[in-house]
Amino acid sequence: MEIEFRPRMLEALQAKVNVLADVVRTQIPVCAQCGQPMKRHDSETIHWLARFGRLNAAVERYRCRGCKQKCRPLLDLLGVEPGRISGSLARLLTLLAVVAPYTLAARLAWLLLGVKISPMGVWNATQRLGEAAVRHSAALSQYHWDSRSTGVPTQDAPPVVVLSVDGCMLGMQVRKQRRRRQGGEPLPPLPPVEAGQFQEVKTGVLLLPGERVETSPGRRSLVRRFLVSCLGNADDIFRHLYAQLRELGWLDTARTLVVVVGDGAEWIWNRATIFVNRCEILDFWHALEHAWEFAQACYGEGSQQADRWVHRIAEDLRAGKVEEVIARLKRIRPKTPELREKLEGLIRYYSTNSTRMHYDEYLRLGYGIGSGAVESAHKQVVHARFRQAGMRWSESGARRLLALRLLLLNDNWALLDRLAMVSVA
Ligand SMILES: [Zn+2]
Repeated sequence: MEIEFRPRMLEALQAKVNVLADVVRTQIPVCAQCGQPMKRHDSETIHWLARFGRLNAAVERYRCRGCKQKCRPLLDLLGVEPGRISGSLARLLTLLAVVAPYTLAARLAWLLLGVKISPMGVWNATQRLGEAAVRHSAALSQYHWDSRSTGVPTQDAPPVVVLSVDGCMLGMQVRKQRRRRQGGEPLPPLPPVEAGQFQEVKTGVLLLPGERVETSPGRRSLVRRFLVSCLGNADDIFRHLYAQLRELGWLDTARTLVVVVGDGAEWIWNRATIFVNRCEILDFWHALEHAWEFAQACYGEGSQQADRWVHRIAEDLRAGKVEEVIARLKRIRPKTPELREKLEGLIRYYSTNSTRMHYDEYLRLGYGIGSGAVESAHKQVVHARFRQAGMRWSESGARRLLALRLLLLNDNWALLDRLAMVSVA
């Protein structure tokens, strides 16, 4: 059926384009820079690829006498790339690239859509739409950050919102310039990746505590959650989180309590202060991890004694007895300087965070005590697409693909239809 109807779909699409082209031809565009009417410069027949095959149209080009600006209104209106792909095909290819590497996405395009395209063609569409998504999310943050913005009504804002944040590393490209092939030679190998060539992707998850459900014993899942991610900057992620909360109408500054769950990382607590009405929680599993480290050094790796020791700490912490745990740690007399150092580190970690370790209370109030949601989010947002074997990212490339992946994972892909493609150099 598809083979039979493909040509007819193409015909119908071509007819629509023709109608639109006739309408556009009757309108004289104005210059984007000076606002003066532009002058018809020339006309050229342009072909481009849509999902059902090649389309064509006589495309007029206009020019502004004063500013020398040029434009092709029909192509702008249709979202056709100069690379000759229709706007809707570009969105489908981008969708494939958001879930699979570019080479695989190109192959899927052939198998799923019957469209022959190079990995570079997929990459190109992804960059243009990714840049549009990046700019949209930046504009949204800017809007909500501005205290003069009205924002979304908050009368239905929940009493409690849980926000967890975490970071993970992404391998970045070392080269400053693209490698170039000289003649028929193979490309020179990529330089080795050095320690400094990683950047942190920070991810945050927003959820309502009441929407955590237990699908089967011990297996919890979420009805709804919103993901926010960005490359590098700690201020940025909190700005984005704040904007997303406001965009959802979830933040009534006077009423809503923001529960912030994080590991011990300083950048999280320093920035959490933007939420005046907040409750800070140190991720329970991170708290235990530190205890494990000491226990294994003290009693030997995998020993029963270490096991028992940590188990008791876990029980006491869960019961909210953090002060008792600290007092007990202080009574230990370690045998070696290394052990003493480790123990002091653990005591310091618990003392600094003790106000964030009232786990009995958090459990009673239903806030949860772990950052499991953000760790699984990391895997979905970052690992599944960005951390496959040998992958190295340019900063702009990673930023764009992240913005797109968030649209998909937040079930907001349709937004892309409302954004115009951005040309990227
Ligand atoms: Zn002009």
